[in-house]
Amino acid sequence: MADLANPTRTIEILNKHGFHFQKRYGQNFLIDSHILEKIIEGAEVTEEDCVLEIGPGIGTMTQYLAEHAREVIAVEIDKTLIPVLEDTLSAYHNVTMINEDILKVDIAKIVEEHNQGKPVKVVANLPYYITTPIIMGLFESHVPLKSITVMVQKEVADRMQVGPGTKDYGALSLAVQYYASPKVIMTVPASCFMPRPNVDSAVIRLNRHEQPPVQVREEEKMFRIIRAAFNQRRKTLVNSLANAGILSVTKEEIAEALKNLGLSLSVRGEALTLEQFAGLSDLL
Ligand code: SAM
Repeated sequence: MADLANPTRTIEILNKHGFHFQKRYGQNFLIDSHILEKIIEGAEVTEEDCVLEIGPGIGTMTQYLAEHAREVIAVEIDKTLIPVLEDTLSAYHNVTMINEDILKVDIAKIVEEHNQGKPVKVVANLPYYITTPIIMGLFESHVPLKSITVMVQKEVADRMQVGPGTKDYGALSLAVQYYASPKVIMTVPASCFMPRPNVDSAVIRLNRHEQPPVQVREEEKMFRIIRAAFNQRRKTLVNSLANAGILSVTKEEIAEALKNLGLSLSVRGEALTLEQFAGLSDLL
């Protein structure tokens, strides 16, 4: 394998194609082969897998994925990277390149076409400016998934795995934990990327639950309540929900529901577990 995961080879490829980094696309390419090996290992990519990669860049991780998986589908928004990828991936016949915005493309359709609708593994060094919409989009659109293994900002990885009562706990923690069980695989210093980002990063693996850990009658309503609860996180839950105007219930009815759940009227959203949000959603 012509390994791109080092600064010299990366610069060579960039110069050869006259490529210029575009900040607005969150382009920070990995230049450390050790990290890439650990990502592949952490994602447990095998030759039976169909892998969806978001943002292949110049194909550094794509090469590793192509070596280990049966098939790789890579979605890249930047059209100036397509000729670069055609060059760096020319030796691989199991990679399909799609020049699209991952937030606009119909992922379920791609999975249907390439993997007969069977669950895929997502592996990516994500563009950080759209980490949350990408992850939420993958979960909410019910794309068949085994797992998502992604490089994200370290603080975002922290937010995904914490529980109630911590400052990082929020709507993202609850959504991720409703759909998956999160596990941080490693932290990655800024020096492993070109150009260097201003933040440290972490690789997190989200294993999709077969069944959500809590039962709720209306998933979508529960998430509206969760978002409202954390929109004004310093306010009491009663006030946040009443002010948000997202439910056709009165302040008294919200108070009554909290009482039924054994919660104090002065409780804030950040103190509730996923189970309690599900209970609240069903009562309202
Ligand atoms: N995978 C490469 C690596 O590890 O070196 C590049 C990772 S870089 C952090 C993020 C990549 O996502 C860039 O190639 C960027 O152009 C691409 N990207 C940004 N926004 C995107 C979007 N909306 N849809 C698809 N790709 C996107």
